[in-house]
Amino acid sequence: MPEKDPSLMVRCLECDSRIYFERKPDMGQIIVCPECDTSLEVIRTSPIKLGWPDDAGAGNSAGGPVDLNEFFNALAEEEADHDDYGFDDDDDGAY
Ligand SMILES: [Zn+2]
Repeated sequence: MPEKDPSLMVRCLECDSRIYFERKPDMGQIIVCPECDTSLEVIRTSPIKLGWPDDAGAGNSAGGPVDLNEFFNALAEEEADHDDYGFDDDDDGAY
């Protein structure tokens, strides 16, 4: 029985060195590369695949849903600006 199970081997995303697990890791488990000290998250267990922990990746933190309401409000505000000329006249006469 081989001591190192190839199915328990992953490569570090940072330095590409081999990391062996003693047993099958859990999803979401954070491991630290012994070579470069980088924290990596287990994003898949069979086969084992590593990813960057949530707060480390540049693109991951901005992955939330885009607030479309805010986007359209900004557009509406721009359009409303064009009506300001008429609106000013109204303001004078109302009071
Ligand atoms: Zn590494």
